[in-house]
Amino acid sequence: MAGRAACAPGADGACGASAPDVAKWMEAAMQMARDALESSEVPVGCLMVYNDEVVGKGRNEVNQTKNATRHAELVAIDQALAWCRRNGRDSSEVFERAVLYVTVEPCIMCAAALRLVKVPLVVYGCQNERFGGCGSVLDIASADLPNTGRPFQCLPGYRAEEAVEMLKDFYKQENPNAPKSKVRKKERQKP
Ligand SMILES: [Zn+2]
Repeated sequence: MAGRAACAPGADGACGASAPDVAKWMEAAMQMARDALESSEVPVGCLMVYNDEVVGKGRNEVNQTKNATRHAELVAIDQALAWCRRNGRDSSEVFERAVLYVTVEPCIMCAAALRLVKVPLVVYGCQNERFGGCGSVLDIASADLPNTGRPFQCLPGYRAEEAVEMLKDFYKQENPNAPKSKVRKKERQKP
């Protein structure tokens, strides 16, 4: 189909992301990441989109909640489940036709969660060299793993430079949860 950036192999072939959709939703995800940065969280933002509607969105909340599992993607999955409950929808039907837009490659934990809920397509910005679960560290997205949901398709590289710049900005700031002495020691060692 013309203008279609991708179509994941969903049950009815209905899922996918057109170029204007990608631009619109990635802009919103970038704004979520910026919000995370302003709140001293690792700047990752994401949206779960079903049928041209945002059913879940999230940004990292790890520092705020002191919960290492509160990554943007898991926040968005929780929101999407709440959306399904509110609207009387079967969550597996919604997830299996949803697209996740996220500014950074999902980590191993989040990639495993996305497999379990069977999201067919993930559009993301930059690679996650340290924790990436879509090929950078492990390929949870497409690996042949029994009893772990369904592999999903990835569309990487959208506004990747911007996403990287935000991560760099974050790591330049002093992390309020980092051990102070270590941070200062490191700074003193700089020429
Ligand atoms: Zn994650």
